[in-house]
Amino acid sequence: MATYKQPCFHCGEFIGRDAHLCPVCGSRSPFGYRCPSCMKSIEKRQTVCSGCGRSLTVVCPACQQPTFVDERCERCGASLMIHCANPRCGEPQFFDLTKCTACGKKIKEP
Ligand SMILES: [Zn+2]
Ligand SMILES: [Zn+2]
Ligand SMILES: [Zn+2]
Ligand SMILES: [Zn+2]
Repeated sequence: MATYKQPCFHCGEFIGRDAHLCPVCGSRSPFGYRCPSCMKSIEKRQTVCSGCGRSLTVVCPACQQPTFVDERCERCGASLMIHCANPRCGEPQFFDLTKCTACGKKIKEP
């Protein structure tokens, strides 16, 4: 069976269409942006998520400038992801979440 490939939205590398992670750039949403709270597909021109209503603009903790809810700050390139503190989970999570989207546990403040 043929494996269909599609370019990663972030780095342009062709990867399997069912991939949940780009093996080249490490992006967790290789085919478009996703809401960091509910994982619904979002577009950059939206200001709030149509699924959960969260704001899609955050203030970057590194440079204090507003940026889109991507994995990295659009302005300074700092990572906006943290790892879930649950040792059995450890999934990357958006930095402003209070609960892990993978295991449902509270994410501890660093
Ligand atoms: Zn990529
Ligand atoms: Zn959402
Ligand atoms: Zn920044
Ligand atoms: Zn977790």
